[in-house]
Amino acid sequence: MNRRTALKLGLAGSAAPLLAAPPATQVDAEIVRLKLRHTWTTVMSSSDFRDTLHVTYRRDGITGHGEGAPIVRYNENAQSAKDAFDSVKSYLLAGDPAQFSKLLATTFSKVQGQFAAKAAIDIAVMDWVGQKLGVPLYRYFGLDPADTPVTTFSIGIDNPAATRAKVEEAAQYPVLKIKVGLDSDEATIQAVRAVTKKPFRVDANEGWKDKEEAVRKINWLETQGVEFVEQPMPAHMIEETRWVRSRVHVPLMADESCTHASEIPKLLNAFDGVNIKLDKSGGVLEAYRMIQIARSLGLKVMLGCMISSSVSVTAAAHLSPLADYADLDGNLLIANDPYRGVEVKNGKLMLPDRPGLGLLPA
Ligand code: MG
Repeated sequence: MNRRTALKLGLAGSAAPLLAAPPATQVDAEIVRLKLRHTWTTVMSSSDFRDTLHVTYRRDGITGHGEGAPIVRYNENAQSAKDAFDSVKSYLLAGDPAQFSKLLATTFSKVQGQFAAKAAIDIAVMDWVGQKLGVPLYRYFGLDPADTPVTTFSIGIDNPAATRAKVEEAAQYPVLKIKVGLDSDEATIQAVRAVTKKPFRVDANEGWKDKEEAVRKINWLETQGVEFVEQPMPAHMIEETRWVRSRVHVPLMADESCTHASEIPKLLNAFDGVNIKLDKSGGVLEAYRMIQIARSLGLKVMLGCMISSSVSVTAAAHLSPLADYADLDGNLLIANDPYRGVEVKNGKLMLPDRPGLGLLPA
């Protein structure tokens, strides 16, 4: 860190009184219930709302906001995320945000798992750091906001009539992501194709348990113009996915097979890319590291999200200039977003240029 940055962060030792009290830090967390516009169904679950953990990090008159969406598949829920936050609150209060890498590493070393809670904490601290430095988060990472990709808009599993209605409702989004993975897959895609010719991607969410079935479905999807297929088979079936990949022509992206950095190397030759989410990685800093690792191995990078508010989605969007593909629509699927941040114009992610995440109240 150079002296100018140190000055901005209030670290200029020579200027500080010798016995000055440490600046008061305040951190809080609450569970926020997000109401879905449509009942959301995937292979894994069906629901009308989602509870996410919202964290605030306050110091020097600046408030950083963070959010994490607990993932049931990894034994997380909103209460377990809140409990994890409570268990490390003292480390957050004691640490120095100017040394945020150390602060977050120390804090996270005290928690097993609970990556949604870690994401909420990491995002709140990084929002605070960006505001303190007076730069948007994308600029902190040296990125060009003009490089953001188009985001897909997701269509959950439903009957053909409802699928057609949802696709028509999504007219403003140029690329769709269709959830599949059930016996009804062909009817779902036919319903989509009945109302639009626009490009689409599919997410099977581990739904195809048999490798021959996966090949059959993917090759049929290719005839319908699918761009790529996300997580065709169960997460642990890497060898089977490698077999599938040698028999299909469209790229395969890993989501459930890629939760942490250490898993990326074993995905080679089974997948063409990885779907990185802040809720899986535990925040912006770890997601950035995963992007670099995936790139170094020649994998494509997709940035995804869970159903969440503009806090989490905007944080991910600040890294999106590094991504080939984005599926950052979690905030578009809810009816009571407490904030405004990243916006979508003709599908393209438009980053706020305000400091930190650049959030405003809704
Ligand atoms: Mg997925």
